[in-house]
Amino acid sequence: MKILVTGGAGFIGSNLVDRLIDEGYKVFVIDNLSSGKKENLNKKAIFYKADICNLNKIFPLFKGIDYVFHLAANPRVLFSVENPIESHKVNVDGTLNVLYASYKNKVKRLIFASSSAVYGNIKKLPLREDMKPNPISPYGLHKLIGEYYCKLFSDLYNLETVCLRYFNVYGPKMDPEGPYALVIGKFLKLKKENKPLTIYGNGKQTRDFVYVNDVVEANILAMKSKKVGKGEVINICSGKNYSINYIAKLIGGKKIYLPARKGEMKHTLGDNSLAKKLLGWKPKISLEEGINYLLNNYF
Ligand code: NAD
Repeated sequence: MKILVTGGAGFIGSNLVDRLIDEGYKVFVIDNLSSGKKENLNKKAIFYKADICNLNKIFPLFKGIDYVFHLAANPRVLFSVENPIESHKVNVDGTLNVLYASYKNKVKRLIFASSSAVYGNIKKLPLREDMKPNPISPYGLHKLIGEYYCKLFSDLYNLETVCLRYFNVYGPKMDPEGPYALVIGKFLKLKKENKPLTIYGNGKQTRDFVYVNDVVEANILAMKSKKVGKGEVINICSGKNYSINYIAKLIGGKKIYLPARKGEMKHTLGDNSLAKKLLGWKPKISLEEGINYLLNNYF
């Protein structure tokens, strides 16, 4: 069985590639290494350095592929606010290229990495897939367009698709550097360097964090489940939310507060009952366990 992972040198993609290789699949990776790293990449994966915006270059790489996991993206909310056109090219045009190449090359199923950012600032929690999306950043809108394209390709061209709306993912190989780094990775790095933890806003904003191994498991189940394939949208979340102040407390050390950032949601909390129903999935690793593991092993 041949599997193609776009964005396979990135944080979540590389964890997925490791698991697929452990399960004995032949894995191909397309990545332009814009945020991903070659050292993340499993040595047994076949790597193509290519940009998903270049359809002519990526199209032949889909020949003979059974399943596609599409994770390549410009995945940062703030980046999309500051660079909406560049972000759109990768997140929307790139996604369309990947869908088109998959359909034309008769891929069996494509699993799309969507995001809880499609919900925007919906006040009613927990967030459920049947709520009307209300993105408040270009990135959120790009992911919503990607979901609609997946559904359209299923309806129009019979390409099986599934969209997984990840919430805040953390775990080994996440990037702790730069202005768009995810909060847990950033805090762990600052703690290691004995620097104060920087909190944007009052720290009372909450996030639903999900450990990367749980996200990988959801992807594998989405590939195998007989109950999906028609563009379903499924939350991948823990179903619990924690404040940034609580994360800072778990990690320990001093804190400093900076002004809140634009385009960011106040709260995220997902309902994961659909994932349970359609994929037989539920998260296994608690936030405390996950952070403890990272504190002891990675930072
Ligand atoms: P990441 O930045 O580590 O991975 C993205 C990968 O895509 C990188 O390896 C990057 O080099 C590659 N890439 C970017 N543009 C490309 C292009 N034009 N052509 C080819 N490759 C390209 O980010 P991640 O956190 O691993 O996210 C993976 C996916 O999951 C993304 O689609 C993201 O939107 C989605 N997602 C992530 C989270 C999270 O909490 N990390 C939450 C929701 C959704």
